[in-house]
Amino acid sequence: MTVNKKTPEKQSPQTACRRCGTCCQNGGPALHGPDLPLVRQGKLSLDALITIRRGELAHNPLTDRIESIPYELVKIRGTGREWCCCYYDAARKGCSIYGNRPVACGTLKCWQPKETLALVGQDLLSRLDILGEAHPWRAVVLEYERLCPCPDMGEVHNKLMDQQYSILSTLEIQISTDLAFRERVVSDLNLSLDEELFLFGRPLFQLLQGIAGGIQ
Ligand code: SF4
Ligand code: SF4
Repeated sequence: MTVNKKTPEKQSPQTACRRCGTCCQNGGPALHGPDLPLVRQGKLSLDALITIRRGELAHNPLTDRIESIPYELVKIRGTGREWCCCYYDAARKGCSIYGNRPVACGTLKCWQPKETLALVGQDLLSRLDILGEAHPWRAVVLEYERLCPCPDMGEVHNKLMDQQYSILSTLEIQISTDLAFRERVVSDLNLSLDEELFLFGRPLFQLLQGIAGGIQ
């Protein structure tokens, strides 16, 4: 009796983009120096950007870990509650701003990530870089950072894991200060939610909800 063994199909190594969209669905790119003209020329609008502040937790592709980031970065925001890049066109499985996509997008080769990884943390654009010297919103960004700096969320996470609940009273004050600042400035400048997320990133209470979900 012969046994009919199926030969497993050999997959050829990937050498080109298959346009699956996974990299865009995983989140929009951080902006780098060469992307500044895209913002200044209005090809990337401020309300399509979100700020991740120094101290927030984020995935570090170099270590493949979630860590507090040691610098501020500004990236293209997600869609609704998802991180999927807001410029990703799911119906066409493509980028809706292809000719004006940020420099990091041009390096995306999931089968060969060296070029993308080399950009991590390098020549990043901050909110102040993007706004420039004369923008009227510059002053509120500086005021916000003075009054409401983002705590090191990795440290906060570790303290809560160690049941050091004494930090909760400090966090409570920081959350209130953060919310009061936003309420005042959003009303004074008549900001949309997307503009608020560019200027101030996500509110502290949301960042804490993110880590509380992981602690339980
Ligand atoms: S680079 Fe890779 S993950 Fe991104 S769309 Fe192409 S095949 Fe998909
Ligand atoms: S800007 Fe375009 S290429 Fe870059 S992540 Fe968004 S959809 Fe993808």
